[in-house]
Amino acid sequence: MSDRSCLFCRIVSGEIPSTQVFEDEHCVAFRDLNPQAPTHVLIIAREHFGSLDEATPEQESIIGHAVRAASTIAAKEGLTAGYRTVINTGADAGQSVFHLHVHLLGGRPLAWPPG
Ligand code: 5GP
Ligand code: ZN
Repeated sequence: MSDRSCLFCRIVSGEIPSTQVFEDEHCVAFRDLNPQAPTHVLIIAREHFGSLDEATPEQESIIGHAVRAASTIAAKEGLTAGYRTVINTGADAGQSVFHLHVHLLGGRPLAWPPG
């Protein structure tokens, strides 16, 4: 179910433009507006759910699909030296858009632990 008030639902529908790098029946991936690495892609479920905490057992396969899509996109982006996938959940993690998304970051060495 799409939510008209949700930024990422509006990106899925094409109402808000994005630089799309991948799509399939379950997810859409596009470049982050404020990239934190040379490659910074957001992979989102077409279906609206706010975060991991809102996901139902039926949505587990969609989350897995979105995470797995990161590997496909990383290969397309030439991230042969590695990449990171991140799902921010809630305030302490800095989640700012409440439509579940996977960050795919790569193209430079990524420090650990993250900030
Ligand atoms: P979060 O902080 O919720 O984990 O990640 C949200 C991400 O969405 C941020 O990295 C932010 O830069 C990105 N973002 C916010 N608004 C837009 C937008 O309108 N277009 C795109 N492409 N990215 C956005
Ligand atoms: Zn949404």
